[in-house]
Amino acid sequence: MIYIITIAVIAGILFAILYKKKPVEIETPPKHWHQILDTHVLYYHKLTPSEQHLFQQKMIDFLSYITIEGVQLTLEDKDRILVAASGIIPIFKFDHWRYPNLNTVLLYPDYFNEDLEFNASAEGKKIAGLVGTGRFKNQMILSKKALYHGFSNKTDKNNTAVHEFVHLLDKLDGATDGIPERLLEQENILPWLHIMHSKMEAINNYNSDIRNYGGTSQTEFFAVAAEYFFERPQLLEQKHPDLYQMLLKCFSKRE
Ligand SMILES: [Zn+2]
Repeated sequence: MIYIITIAVIAGILFAILYKKKPVEIETPPKHWHQILDTHVLYYHKLTPSEQHLFQQKMIDFLSYITIEGVQLTLEDKDRILVAASGIIPIFKFDHWRYPNLNTVLLYPDYFNEDLEFNASAEGKKIAGLVGTGRFKNQMILSKKALYHGFSNKTDKNNTAVHEFVHLLDKLDGATDGIPERLLEQENILPWLHIMHSKMEAINNYNSDIRNYGGTSQTEFFAVAAEYFFERPQLLEQKHPDLYQMLLKCFSKRE
C-alpha cells in the first residue's frame, strides 16, 4: 500500500513539474528568415536583436491571418517574407494589432493597368499596387517587380508595399483621405492638416524633396510621406522636422 501511495505521490509531483514547465507555445520563425530580412529590409536591419525577434513573431502572426496568392506566378518564400515585412513595418510599434480590413494579398508579376492587366500586350501598365474595393474588398494587389524594387534601393524614399499598407491604416476610420483619425489624437488633426497642406503646396511648386505623387491628393500625401518616414527617417527628421514628429505620433506604440 505504501508503495502505491509513494508512486502516486511521485507521479503527482512529476506531473506538476512537467505541467508547470510546459513551454508556452511560441512558433519559431524559420532560420533563413533572418538572413533574408537582414539583407533586404533596411528597417529590420536597424532593429536590435530583441526587436528583430519581435518583428519575426509579428510576421508569423501576419501570415497566419493573411493569405498571399501569386497570380500567374509561382509564389516564392522570399515573396511571402517581403510582403509580410511590408505589412509589419507600419504597425511594428502597435501591440497585438491586426489589419481588420485585409485578408488577401494578390501578387502580380508586373506593373498593371486599371483593368488589372499585366501581360506584355497590355497598355498603360503603371500601377505598382492598390488597395482593392468592390469585388476586391479586403484585398491588396501588389506588383512583384514593385515589391522587390521597394526593398532594393536603400537610399530612395519609396516603398510601394509599405505605401499600400499605410493606405489601409488611413482607411481604418472609414475614409481613405490622408487624415488618419485612428492614429492621431483629436488635437493633432488640425496641425496635421496644416502641415500636410503646406508640404503639398511645396511639392506642387517644385520646391520639395518629397515625391511628386504626394502632391496629387491628401490620401497620396500621407502614404508617400509615410514611405519617406520608414525608408529614410533621419533625412525626414532633418529636412521636415514638423512632418517627422507628426508621423512619429501616428506610428508610435498603442494598444
Ligand atoms: Zn497610393
